[in-house]
Amino acid sequence: MDIHFTPEELTFRSEVRAFLEQNLPTDIAEKVRLGRRLAKEDHQRWQRILNQKGWYAVNWPEEYGGTGWSVVQKHIFDEECAAAGAPRLVAFGVNMVAPVIIKFGTQAQKDFYLPRILRSEDWWCQGYSEPGAGSDLASLKTRAERDGDHYLVNGQKTWTTLGQHANRIFCLVRTDPSAKKQEGISFLLIDMDTPGITVRPIITLDGEHEVNEVFFDNVRVPVENLVGEENKGWTCAKYLLTHERTGQAGIGQSKAALAHLKQIARAETVAGQPRIDDPLFRARIAELEMRLMAVEMSTLRILAATRDGGVPGAESSLLKIQGSEIRQAITDLMRKALGPNALPFLEPELEPDFHGEPLYQDYGASPASQYFNLRKLSIYGGSNEIQKNIIAKLVLEL
Ligand SMILES: Cc1cc2nc3c(=O)[nH]c(=O)nc-3n(C[C@H](O)[C@H](O)[C@H](O)COP(=O)(O)OP(=O)(O)OC[C@H]3O[C@@H](n4cnc5c(N)ncnc54)[C@H](O)[C@@H]3O)c2cc1C
Repeated sequence: MDIHFTPEELTFRSEVRAFLEQNLPTDIAEKVRLGRRLAKEDHQRWQRILNQKGWYAVNWPEEYGGTGWSVVQKHIFDEECAAAGAPRLVAFGVNMVAPVIIKFGTQAQKDFYLPRILRSEDWWCQGYSEPGAGSDLASLKTRAERDGDHYLVNGQKTWTTLGQHANRIFCLVRTDPSAKKQEGISFLLIDMDTPGITVRPIITLDGEHEVNEVFFDNVRVPVENLVGEENKGWTCAKYLLTHERTGQAGIGQSKAALAHLKQIARAETVAGQPRIDDPLFRARIAELEMRLMAVEMSTLRILAATRDGGVPGAESSLLKIQGSEIRQAITDLMRKALGPNALPFLEPELEPDFHGEPLYQDYGASPASQYFNLRKLSIYGGSNEIQKNIIAKLVLEL
């Protein structure tokens, strides 16, 4: 197995880097570097730039506007984007519902939704989880009952990320309550402005509004919005999750965060000495960097094994656990590098258009907020405990 990049892959890396230097708006990259909030328009602006180049729908087949890149090229692209400070793509439309529509949707659904996703005209959110149906997703209770040429949807979804921006939601709903858990579920596309939908914010530990509860009260959804067959939605759901879990190690993001951590540790002093010169602190950074290199090597090994069309199995679970733990540990060290200055910040400092005087340094506002926010990494996309169960079963055969 050769884990080195081929000359063609290295040329591709240079091409991506040059594109990012010329096209990634500096104001967006600066917000990402400083951990400021990104406005909906920032995401859309960057997505449209990528789409113009034909580099937005990297996971789609070429005939639908995809890039046709290999898994290694996708990895290089992700890494370069993160290093340059590009925002992480909001996956719900382009990388989640679109692959499902491409695989299971009708021609009419493809013709209507896919171009809108490419042009960033729709903002999708994911209606999978419910109170009592997270890890055990198949226990979901939101009902969709047939009423002529419509479904009548009643129930509640929760943890709906960025649902406040969304004009569309893809939902798992129960269409046959008498069937076995996985067998009575369907996959529905729903317009968020349909009467009977209420979105309520959930404010998380970091004080941010990123997730929501979504309530459905007699919401009428046309039958043509069903994707795939009625009661066969679990197949779509599982297919979507394989797309959700790709690239969750977030190596590019962790590398960029580690570089930022080093900058902070060089700038911050304790008793006149830069924090990074403290042997204990330095050792902690070194340990994290080594763990990150180890995950990167594992990723490259897995990519090398999938170069010829193989599919990663339980290895994705391993990468997800390691990647999320490392990213969380970096935010912990960032906070520690700042010491007591990590805690206070002015709320407006996190706003995308903040141009005032920061309370402390410009890098001081976001580490505490990021520390709290990124606790989510070990919960969503299949919690780390669930990933460990997968490894226990598939790798250790326990
Ligand atoms: C910030 C954030 C954003 C999210 N965004 C979305 C979104 O946009 N759309 C969406 O549909 N969902 C979203 N989710 C939901 C997410 O997928 C669930 O939180 C996750 O699946 C866990 O489900 P739960 O919260 O119900 O916890 P539970 O499933 O109740 O789990 C509670 C604890 O028990 C552990 N546990 C559960 N079962 C087992 C088991 N069999 N073995 C060992 N341990 C177990 C879990 O690991 C966890 O620690 C989001 C979650 C968060 C935190």
